[in-house]
Amino acid sequence: MAEDKKILDASDFEEANISCADCEKQLLKMVRVEKTDTKFEITVNCPYCDGASWANQLEGRYYQNPPEGLGLGAMTEEDGNFALDMKKIK
Ligand SMILES: [Zn+2]
Repeated sequence: MAEDKKILDASDFEEANISCADCEKQLLKMVRVEKTDTKFEITVNCPYCDGASWANQLEGRYYQNPPEGLGLGAMTEEDGNFALDMKKIK
């Protein structure tokens, strides 16, 4: 009964909505695609008010899904802490 096929486990899926700590606009949706031991922290910079989100502690592999009107900008990393710039799309 060996089963080598990788089956997508629905419990792996988890969404994290990241919004600005200052103006509360939604900045990014993180969708977990795989549960792993990788832990990281992400802060998203807000293009609307030049503020930023709170630091979000996440675990696993995530897909970044920007809300409508926003695109992914530059991402910088320091000691496992990521900072992501978002940019407005017209
Ligand atoms: Zn903001």
